[in-house]
Amino acid sequence: MNIIADATRREEIAQALGLVNEEVTAACSAAGRKPDEVRLVAVTKNFPASDVLHLASLGLVDIGENRDQEAAAKAAEVAESAAVRWHFVGRLQRNKAKSVASYAHMVQSVDRKSLVSALSTGAARLDRRLATLVQISLDGDTERGGVAAEDLPGLVDSILDAPSLSLNGVMAVAPLGWEPARAFDALAGLSEQVKQHAPQAREISAGMSGDFAEAIACGATMIRLGSKLLGRRRNVGYPVR
Ligand SMILES: *Cc1c(COP(=O)(O)O)cnc(C)c1O
Repeated sequence: MNIIADATRREEIAQALGLVNEEVTAACSAAGRKPDEVRLVAVTKNFPASDVLHLASLGLVDIGENRDQEAAAKAAEVAESAAVRWHFVGRLQRNKAKSVASYAHMVQSVDRKSLVSALSTGAARLDRRLATLVQISLDGDTERGGVAAEDLPGLVDSILDAPSLSLNGVMAVAPLGWEPARAFDALAGLSEQVKQHAPQAREISAGMSGDFAEAIACGATMIRLGSKLLGRRRNVGYPVR
């Protein structure tokens, strides 16, 4: 890439990150929380690997992706130049689990038992332990991803039984048409339920560009921001499965 365009892009991202950090600090102080209780995950889907390198150079090393092919290609592209932690946040097919387990630091979208065994087997083959979050469908419309609340305890148990997975917490997306505060309150309640059974599962991944302040107010420990950091998504030519 052209060096001037590259410097301009880095500056653009740096400014967006500065603004995000101010807004996160404000949301934390409004909620009586400390900014270091909230980890920022930059969702880079549809943005080039060069943006991941810019983010890493600005100190943001938690990177989210939602499709295996794109994530795997980007992970290979940046592996030599930056140490980033890949968070898989999208709907995952079982036949992609082995691939995802090879580069992901955390899979945030575990929503059914068949994925648990596939991810655990994939991680075991590489002799590693994979962090996971259970994705919960707050309105019970599991077509959009996430486990229904009534199936949550069984899924939690199966992750706790998986030899190569650790259960770190819960994740959700606010359902369409719901007030974000209502959604994230419900998630906080379900997180409490999970923690009674698995006290180490403290992470609450909630909040995207449009609703991260509400998520922070409801106790989010990770927020997942794409457009707010990187601008409008455009297809940069990664293959679609
Ligand atoms: C794309 C995506 C995000 C980021 O969305 P923005 O609105 O661009 O911040 C967060 N979480 C998931 C699961 C996503 O797929």
